[in-house]
Amino acid sequence: MPQEIYLDNAATTRPHPAVVEAMREVMTVDYGNPSSLHRMGVEAERRIEGARAEIAALLGVNPREIVFTSGATEANNLAIRGVASAYRRKGKHLITTQIEHSSVIEPCRRLQEEGFEVTYLPVDRYGLVDPGSVAEAIGPETILVSVMAVNNEVGSIQPIEEIGKIVREAGRKLGRRILFHVDAVQALGKVPLSPNRAGIDLLSLSGHKIAGPKGVGALFIREGVRLTPLLYGGDQERGLRPGTENVPGIVGMGVAARLLGETQNAVVPRIRGLRARLLSFLRGHPRIQVNGPPDEQAAPHILSITAKGVLGEHLVHRLEVDGIYVSTGSACHSRRAEPSHVLLAMGLTREEALSTIRISFGYETTEEDVEVAGQAILQAVDELASLKIL
Ligand code: PMP
Repeated sequence: MPQEIYLDNAATTRPHPAVVEAMREVMTVDYGNPSSLHRMGVEAERRIEGARAEIAALLGVNPREIVFTSGATEANNLAIRGVASAYRRKGKHLITTQIEHSSVIEPCRRLQEEGFEVTYLPVDRYGLVDPGSVAEAIGPETILVSVMAVNNEVGSIQPIEEIGKIVREAGRKLGRRILFHVDAVQALGKVPLSPNRAGIDLLSLSGHKIAGPKGVGALFIREGVRLTPLLYGGDQERGLRPGTENVPGIVGMGVAARLLGETQNAVVPRIRGLRARLLSFLRGHPRIQVNGPPDEQAAPHILSITAKGVLGEHLVHRLEVDGIYVSTGSACHSRRAEPSHVLLAMGLTREEALSTIRISFGYETTEEDVEVAGQAILQAVDELASLKIL
């Protein structure tokens, strides 16, 4: 078999064998419709509730506060559009950041067309939001603040607890609640995150970033928060997400969440070590610059580097020849030759942004993978730079 070193775990992860097995079981044995009254339906429903309990336990919240969706894109849309619609009489101002995933930015842009005002907070050169800027942006019309926990392109960990405090305090002064939404897709199982401690009202998750399946996600909705659904047509998921449930996906995500809970204390320091090892390989190269914050504020699984004079796209394909899989940035945009909005917001030039790759580690990544990839990256950068195509 040709070598396969998969270092694109921020784009997606390989489902864990236990996830695949549980999904197979649900598709072949417990394949009932959870809404059916008979035993088969009851069993399917029981399996969904089991998955809900696993995810709630991982977050330390009540299972009633978890709604399953088709992924984090839907969870983000439901949170943002759902709050905007339900609370529009309280105010029409939203706050988010310039480095959010497109599934936060695009619904916000759409709301602007519908008469809402949106503030997109800047970040510093490390990709970090200043909590003070959140305080300054809040006004009498603000109904929602949405800040991602970990950026998917550069791995910056945002000061979520501090921002949560500011949002709650500002709400208290206004005499009403300002809701706080967090896209926690890249944070789950990688950095500590407690919705209760951080005062988070809504939190989006995705199955396929945690060794679970694609096409399933969840939204934590704090008890008492009102949301207008995106879809109508059934009372599944308390009417917030009607439609026959994706039982295999939900069950698979539940198993992934359980495994994450059991293994994260061992896996996270190991992955952090691999990231540090690769960094030590790459740092000395004169063309390579590391993007993102210092190690304490960086997620353990994401490493963004710019190779001056080399197109990121070329580097990705050159490494692919060696069986090494990395990415140019966020997967959703990597087929477009547009510089990343995240890197531009951090102050990189267009050229630097286009010369950037993201390397991301997963639970299966080994030390040997990192050694081989490190050498290969150095060689590929030298090779491509000597061609002088940029
Ligand atoms: N938010 C972030 C930060 C992400 O990295 C992703 C996945 N690229 C999403 C949202 C969207 O998740 P999904 O693929 O489940 O729709």
